[in-house]
Amino acid sequence: MTALDAASQVAPASVASGSAAGPVALDLTALERAERGERLSAGELESLYHLPLPEVAAVAHDLRMQRRDPDVVSFLIDRNINYTNVCNVGCNFCAFYRTKRQPDSYTLDYEQISHKIRELEAVGGTRILLQGGVNPELGLDYYTGMLRHVKAHHPTIQIDAFSPEEVLFMEKTFGLSLDELLDTLIEAGLDGLPGAGGEILEDDVRKKAAPARIRSDDWFRIIDAAQRKGLYTIATMVIGFGETYAQRVSHLLKIRAQQDKALREYGGNGFFGFALWTLQTEHTRLHGKAPGATAHEYLQQLAVARIALDNLHNLQASWPAQGFKVGQAALYYGANDLGSTMLEENVVSAAAGHDRHRATVRELIRISVDAGFKPAIRNSRFEILNYPDVEAFLSRSAENPEGQRGVGA
Ligand code: SF4
Repeated sequence: MTALDAASQVAPASVASGSAAGPVALDLTALERAERGERLSAGELESLYHLPLPEVAAVAHDLRMQRRDPDVVSFLIDRNINYTNVCNVGCNFCAFYRTKRQPDSYTLDYEQISHKIRELEAVGGTRILLQGGVNPELGLDYYTGMLRHVKAHHPTIQIDAFSPEEVLFMEKTFGLSLDELLDTLIEAGLDGLPGAGGEILEDDVRKKAAPARIRSDDWFRIIDAAQRKGLYTIATMVIGFGETYAQRVSHLLKIRAQQDKALREYGGNGFFGFALWTLQTEHTRLHGKAPGATAHEYLQQLAVARIALDNLHNLQASWPAQGFKVGQAALYYGANDLGSTMLEENVVSAAAGHDRHRATVRELIRISVDAGFKPAIRNSRFEILNYPDVEAFLSRSAENPEGQRGVGA
């Protein structure tokens, strides 16, 4: 029995789609093609939003089980270090940034960054995300010095640093071509670029949410150069700005096209993963103005992404934005990965309106096991580092509720 057959037993293809105008026969052609592993067009992908979610989810989960180890759910132990909160971009959806005159603005010195990394190393972490605001006070020496300092003092830590927005600022400010800039950063220790700032890569959406935000062409230009140079990258997506289904599909197809190019031309060095989350607007200028997205919309979008991205196989569940319970459910809507523990995260959490923005290893293990999967700790390139001792972690909780010591030992 195929996933579609199984789903159809729950919601047969002849049932009404819920239209107020009365029963409408469902066209499952696109889903049937997806289930056969065929690539869907923009119109076919848009049609998925109008089908019952259980049917779309069943196919998405089936594809996930085919494309990644069906027994395993992976995650990473890392820390997001925001080296400065000073930013002159001023996105309407951001509660993190400050102007330099605000009393709680900051820029970390290298020893403060090292202190945070030592805490990460103590719990077996292997990667930092170094991201900041776009701080016009910082010179190129600050960035290269930071990378050199981290590599010198923490040689086993992978550094994925600087969103395309920050790279664009450096390119415009320091008089270097993009190639020269990336070469300089790589020589100083850069291992990858987080794909932050993707949101919806349609400029009509971006202009409304953040008029000064990096445009989609520049985002792809910078990601393309990074992939060409062998750097790690992931693709990101945020829904809830009030974007249309067509705009969401366009975003996904641009990512799919970039992935095709990278796999073809850059020796397979494309996006290593895809992270989707929902817009968080607490304490931002968009609060009450953007519709946001419900759990149903999030899970639907995740399932559509799994079907659309037939060349990008690691999809993350967003427990930081959706909470642990929806994050766990996402493992049956196309996700095969729980992202990372995020020992520290400040940007999404500043606008989240809840405090669920970090997880212990024990919590991610429990989410995986209870959902029927074997947890695996990976590196940022989605290579499995080890399979944690589930019994030991789950029994350790009373004496060590953080459950993080001894990972990887
Ligand atoms: S999202 Fe990033 S670029 Fe936009 S205001 Fe916040 S820190 Fe600045």
